[in-house]
Amino acid sequence: MTNNFRPESEYLSSADKEFEKVLRPLEFSDFSGQENIVENLRVFVKAAILRQEALDHVLLHGPPGLGKTTLANIIANELGVGFKISSGPVLDKPGDLAGLLTSLQKKDVLFIDEIHRLNPIVEEYLYSAMEDYRIDILIDKGPAARSVQIPLEPFTLIGATTRSGLLTSPLRARFGINCHLNYYTSEILKKIIIRSARILNVPIDEEAAWEIARRSRGTPRISNALLRRVRDFAQVVGSGAIDLNIAKHSLEALNIDKYGLDEMDNKILQTIVEKFSGGPVGLKTIATAVGEDEGTIEEVYEPFLIMEGFIKRTPRGREATEKAYFHVNKNNSGFQQRLF
Ligand code: ADP
Repeated sequence: MTNNFRPESEYLSSADKEFEKVLRPLEFSDFSGQENIVENLRVFVKAAILRQEALDHVLLHGPPGLGKTTLANIIANELGVGFKISSGPVLDKPGDLAGLLTSLQKKDVLFIDEIHRLNPIVEEYLYSAMEDYRIDILIDKGPAARSVQIPLEPFTLIGATTRSGLLTSPLRARFGINCHLNYYTSEILKKIIIRSARILNVPIDEEAAWEIARRSRGTPRISNALLRRVRDFAQVVGSGAIDLNIAKHSLEALNIDKYGLDEMDNKILQTIVEKFSGGPVGLKTIATAVGEDEGTIEEVYEPFLIMEGFIKRTPRGREATEKAYFHVNKNNSGFQQRLF
């Protein structure tokens, strides 16, 4: 059984985005989990307000759907400043960046998603903007070329990335605050689901929330998306309220993996177990076998598989655990049942 249900921000439809907006926490007190990060950010935000300064630049890194955009939003809100949003691939030319930076008001927050995908030339312009609040723009070409300095208002850059390994060291060094977001426990996801259900005005049992939580791959975005689908089943098949039966029925109908593993997770486990006899096998070999980038496996997929005890990292490579064997074998027998 594979779970293709993995909505990531770049694949979200406008209806999905609207839905996320409604459920997005706006204050630290609404944001569940990631306690260390939130505690520290609260202090830094308070200190910046007391000193009446712009908050230091913040780097948020971690897998998709864990709350990077949400936290950036909260920081701007708690600081009581404006919030502008862009992303690495969109900021294609230095002029785009200059336009955005000069539009910022004093102490505003600029959020750049997927900052590892910034064009290197644009990235260089960002260095002086972050360090000295100015940009040097080159005007004209050839002998007439000259550099013009444009002063900027003090601002806070919040960069988000799923692939911190791809950030250049000069860029990384310019962030004073560096936070790594981890996958959530099912306990916390349950809380998030109950909060979302309350906002959506759908009654939900604790057991049902737990059932959805443990199949959410440690990711609030998946929890909310599953809740939305289960709510459909509850309204059409059931009484409108979400109980354990409805939750189980819907998740089964949606073909959601028991652990919330998605297609790539399952492919990685299957590769280690079946092609490499359970390992140890090197990351590069796994990456080639599954057709995914090595760094993405290491930073996005592997942390969840390790956290859930499916694979172990050993000095000689990655090894499948008993739990992985059990899971892969069960999936295979499920596949045969469907075939015959
Ligand atoms: P990212 O930017 O890391 O991809 P987002 O910030 O867009 O993730 O979060 C995706 C969705 O998950 C948001 O709609 C938000 O409502 C929800 N979410 C994320 N983290 C939390 C949290 N800690 N508490 C409550 N909801 C959360």
